[in-house]
Amino acid sequence: MTHRATLDFLLYDWLDAESLCQRERHLDHNRETFTAVLDLSEKIANEQFAPINRLTDLQEPEFDGETVHLPKETPVAMQAFNESGLMAASKDAELGGMQLPTAIEMASMSFFYKASVSLAAYPMLTRGNANTILSHGTPLQIEVFAKGGFEGRTFGTMCLSEPQAGSSLSDITTRAVPDVQGDGSGVDWTQDPLGQRYRLRGNKMWISGGEHEMGENIVHLVLAKIPGADGKTIPGVKGISLFIVPRKLVKADGSITSQRNDVALAGLNHKCGYRGTVNTLLNFGEGKFPVNGQSGAVGYLIGKEGEGLKCMFTLMNEARISVGLGATMLGYAGFEASLAYALQRPQGRRMGAGGKDHSAPQIPIVEHTDVKRMLLMQKAVSEGGLALGLLCAQLVDDDYTGTPEQREQANLLLELLTPIAKSWPSEWAQEANSQAIQILGGAGYTRDFPVEQFWRDNRLNMIHEGTHGIQGLDLLGRKVVMNGGKALSVLAERISQTITRAGQVAGLAEHGNALAAALQKIGQTTKAAWSTGVPEEALANATPYLQAFGHTVLAWIWLELALAAKAAQAKGEWDQGPLGTGFMQGKLATADYFFRFELPKIDAWLGVVSGRDMTCAQAQADWF
Ligand SMILES: Cc1cc2nc3c(=O)[nH]c(=O)nc-3n(C[C@H](O)[C@H](O)[C@H](O)COP(=O)(O)OP(=O)(O)OC[C@H]3O[C@@H](n4cnc5c(N)ncnc54)[C@H](O)[C@@H]3O)c2cc1C
Repeated sequence: MTHRATLDFLLYDWLDAESLCQRERHLDHNRETFTAVLDLSEKIANEQFAPINRLTDLQEPEFDGETVHLPKETPVAMQAFNESGLMAASKDAELGGMQLPTAIEMASMSFFYKASVSLAAYPMLTRGNANTILSHGTPLQIEVFAKGGFEGRTFGTMCLSEPQAGSSLSDITTRAVPDVQGDGSGVDWTQDPLGQRYRLRGNKMWISGGEHEMGENIVHLVLAKIPGADGKTIPGVKGISLFIVPRKLVKADGSITSQRNDVALAGLNHKCGYRGTVNTLLNFGEGKFPVNGQSGAVGYLIGKEGEGLKCMFTLMNEARISVGLGATMLGYAGFEASLAYALQRPQGRRMGAGGKDHSAPQIPIVEHTDVKRMLLMQKAVSEGGLALGLLCAQLVDDDYTGTPEQREQANLLLELLTPIAKSWPSEWAQEANSQAIQILGGAGYTRDFPVEQFWRDNRLNMIHEGTHGIQGLDLLGRKVVMNGGKALSVLAERISQTITRAGQVAGLAEHGNALAAALQKIGQTTKAAWSTGVPEEALANATPYLQAFGHTVLAWIWLELALAAKAAQAKGEWDQGPLGTGFMQGKLATADYFFRFELPKIDAWLGVVSGRDMTCAQAQADWF
């Protein structure tokens, strides 16, 4: 299987990740250190995560009314990950990090997502949580609450959703009031060195990793509203603030006490897939674990009052790219499993000029054209999705350590591409998983093979971190029009450069022309959607727009990869390696597949957007 080789191709032949080592932050690194990190990641993922992926699916987390029980293998896998130091791979040396580029960190994570996406969710959430504290916390909050996460001692969550507020976070009802009464002794607890101290009360739904016994503590990041003097909260997202709420109370010196904060587990959610990650309904401040004799979960304000959602977007943007990569790697896992099956499953015979020769031995199904179609589809999605994830990771690097011009461009491109990085793999890698099941035939529909689990696991990704519909609204409603369409112009400029290069390479001009036409259609459709300035009309078909935009971005990526493959072929280095000439030929054939089978789909999607078709918008509830 070629996951590792594909990573090398993407990182070095395409993205030139080695050049990042010239930046001051990464001066201690070179290709050898990157290789060592990827080797280590692949080893831990294969030895500690993959073997228990099915087990964590079968042995769901259980709650006995007091304690959550996970399979005993789960903390062992977490420990192996935490001890590797990978949690802080891209962080400063002072934080115990390796100062690796984000692109290498994401490449490292791709092994874990493929091996067991639901186990990898714990480090993914913890890292995002600690990064948010790092970006918005005080030095003491970072020392006390983020460091433990980076060191793999504590776990982190994000607590946004509530039973009545999922997509519409402005409607959260969790409240935070200043902790003025303290223990009744008149001590003003609000001025705690760990931050302004509040008491939180409310219910948070769907919280991943919300309760378990792993690690020294769980650090919850919680969105809540602070009522004004009149007891009312500011409507909308402006009223939302962010709080650090530790599961066990922490002293200002960072030592974790044995005293529980007033955060109680109300129950577990029993999921279709992704079962290795415990998913919880948490009650904050209901009085089950009173602090200083009073109900209310102790929380410390992080960032400014009213800027909670803004702060949380640090985590959400990062989480969205990671969700997309997780979806991609589930697609990759299904691709590998179905390819292995197709290579050895004999069934049917080749078509010949005079029909089938039934006396001939059966052929492996990988020889059938329709099976090859399904493999090419999966390859296009999983390798293309991996390329998209790494591209976004490298944009994060440019945003952090690039030249001022690189930073500006990276920032705009990240804003624009994040909905695509999240949604495109979520939709198409799940479809790829469906194709994997199809290749296995009846076997694919059983629990004796892993592909049905990949499909179930992947179904989550269009739901969490902003549903598919919400991502479409974000893209067409905000991202393509922000700053007068500046981000879209930057992307169009990049795509045009690729098209120009493709025009000079034999065999790629056809794809370059198709991409140029697609880009033009995206531009025209964006204008047509907004031509009346009526949001209900412009956004009536935001999801088809998201689909078409995603396919156009992926066509661009596949043209880039085809160019890189042609350049590699010209050098001949890969052809002489263990994978032979087939490796690059496979990349080129997949680009052909994408341009001929996938990109043409955008016409149907864009048609309803540019015509501001109101079929769905005008359908009435009582027509259904
Ligand atoms: C397994 C799992 C893990 C999760 N982990 C976490 C976590 O760790 N932390 C956390 O805070 N949350 C978490 N979530 C919650 C997740 O982010 C929400 O489920 C998601 O945001 C959708 O909210 P909802 O379920 O309330 O659905 P709703 O918001 O009710 O949406 C239902 C449907 O209506 C559509 N819809 C809603 N509003 C609009 C609109 N304005 N325009 C168009 N369509 C709309 C949606 O697209 C969707 O198809 C998790 C969810 C799951 C299932």
